[in-house]
Order: sequence, then C-alpha cells, then structure tokens
Amino acid sequence: AAKSNGRGRWAFFDASMEEQVRARESLARELRQAIDRDQLSLVYQPQTSINGRKVLAVEALVRWNHPVRGPLSPGAFIPIAEETGLINDLGMWVLKRACEDAAKWPHLKLSVNVSPIQFRHPQFIERLSSILGMTRLNPHRLEVEVTESVFSNKDRTVLETLQKVHEMGVRVALDDFGAGYSSLSYLRQFPFDTLKIDRGFIAGLESSPHATAILGTIINLGEALGMSVVAEGIETEQQAAFLRLTKCDRLQGFYLSRPVPADEIRDVEHRLAQLDQLQSVSRRFG
Ligand code: C2E
Ligand code: MG
Ligand code: MG
Ligand code: MG
Repeated sequence: AAKSNGRGRWAFFDASMEEQVRARESLARELRQAIDRDQLSLVYQPQTSINGRKVLAVEALVRWNHPVRGPLSPGAFIPIAEETGLINDLGMWVLKRACEDAAKWPHLKLSVNVSPIQFRHPQFIERLSSILGMTRLNPHRLEVEVTESVFSNKDRTVLETLQKVHEMGVRVALDDFGAGYSSLSYLRQFPFDTLKIDRGFIAGLESSPHATAILGTIINLGEALGMSVVAEGIETEQQAAFLRLTKCDRLQGFYLSRPVPADEIRDVEHRLAQLDQLQSVSRRFG
C-alpha cells in the first residue's frame, strides 16, 4: 500500500525489517530440516599440552553445510537456533555425534559447547545421561563449555542443572572468560572445573604490556582456584612462547591447529609430535 510522502522512508524501513524477519524465518525452517537431514557436521579443534606437543582434548564445533549458501559457521545460525528453541534438538545432535566420534580417540577428552537455553530444558539431564549411556562414553572424558551468559537471567534451575551435570562426573568449563562485564563474580557462583580465557586477552599480548599482566593474573587466579586453565585463540609462536612460561594447562588456537574433521585428528597429533622433534633438533644443532 502507498504511503504519504512524509512516511516514505518509514515504508522502506518497514519493508527491509519485514525482509529480515522473513529471511530469519526461512533460515529457521531450513535449520529444522538440516538437523533432520544430516546437513550439520562437526569439526574438532585440538587442545594441547603447554609445549604444544601432545593433544589432550578436542573441542567440538558445529558447522552447517547449507545446500545453497555453502558452509555456515555457528555465528550465522546459533543465535537463530536459540531464539526459536531449535538449539535444544541441535545441541542434542551435537552431543550425540561428538560422544560417538570420541570413541575414535579413547585417549582424549572431549569438550562440547552447551547453550544456556539447553540447560533450562527440563529434559536436559535425562537426555545427556541417555546419550552417555548409548555411546558408552565415560562421563569423566566429557567437558561441557558454558559462557557467562548462563548467568544472565537469575534462574536458579540453570545452576542446579550445572550441579547435576557435575554430579554425573562431567566437567564444566567457563568459556570466553573475561569477555563479559562481571566475570569475576561468576567464579563464586559455581565451582567450574576449567577456565577458558577469552581470546581477546591473547590477541592483546603483543600490543600492550597491561595485557601480559592481566593474562598472567587470570592464569594464576584459575590455578589458585584449582581449575584447569585453557588459553584459546593462540595464533602465533610468540603467544605460545609466553604461555609456556605460565601455569596455563592447555593451549588452543590456529597456531596449533585449525578445527578439523574427526578423521584428521590422528594426523594433527602426528604433526604436532613431529614438530616438537624438529624444534628440539634445531635447539640442539641450530
Ligand atoms: P567458542 O566455543 O569460544 O569456540 C572457539 C571459536 O574460536 C571457534 O569458532 C574457533 O574456530 C575459533 N578459533 C579457534 N582458534 C582460533 C584462533 O587462533 N584465532 C581465531 N580468531 N579464532 C579461533 P566457531 O567454530 O566459529 O564457533 C564460534 C562460537 O559458536 C563458539 O565459540 C561457540 O560459542 C559457538 N558454538 C560452536 N559450536 C557450537 C555448538 O555445537 N553448540 C553451541 N551451543 N554453540 C556452539
Ligand atoms: Mg567453546
Ligand atoms: Mg571460547
Ligand atoms: Mg563462545
């Protein structure tokens, strides 16, 4: 319908808003089908020992091979999945596939990202334990990663669910630590097993002396609280070298390995082990 001159811009604005809403709706519909039609896949990013030699764990990261748009990363569809509630089915698909894949690496731990919305689902615990039973994954090998947004509404059930996850023997990691506004206070609310330092602190290392002090302090804090500390977003040898001087427990980032399909984990393990041999050769003779 035509609108008066004065409202022409608004009519245009309305149309593009409407388009956006439609685009999101169709993406949500397609995502529903993608879950059912096996268009989702997982890649795994290794977490290594502090010297980069040994893979200790892998983090599962979801990908969507969209039939028209090609591969989509989680940033493009996780928010929509959360808004529409699809995250529950998507998240269970991820957990099940990852726990199945983990049978290929009995010597490695497995990290899986879990959305706060999933923790609020009344059947989450039941479904998680059924997946552990079905895949026969030892709960101690599994770690769930939650971000600070898990505390964003004052819902006690999320904390209770985290507690139950703990009691099952599954470890709980606080992801992207320091990216939010009141990160420190969250450490008092739940006894996290693992602290994953936001990659912003690693990225800042080269440019600011303060970043070095802050990063070192966060690592000491995690250590003092008895947590495993993981530094993510390691992109350079320099960053890895700095972390080697700290009490950080695990390294994760493109410098060590990009996320790879399940069947490439073995190759990455070999490459990292060999890399170390080369490094020690050059240390001895170089
Ligand atoms: P995250 O859990 O913090 O995962 C790490 C992200 O950083 C991954 O992005 C990874 O590819 C990227 N990354 C790893 N190393 C480096 C590096 O050295 N430099 C840089 N610049 N980036 C690096 P990805 O796969 O796009 O995932 C983004 C976020 O989406 C994840 O952040 C996580 O919050 C969420 N996500 C991924 N998979 C799932 C899932 O299965 N379920 C849920 N609920 N969320 C997921
Ligand atoms: Mg994560
Ligand atoms: Mg993270
Ligand atoms: Mg994250």
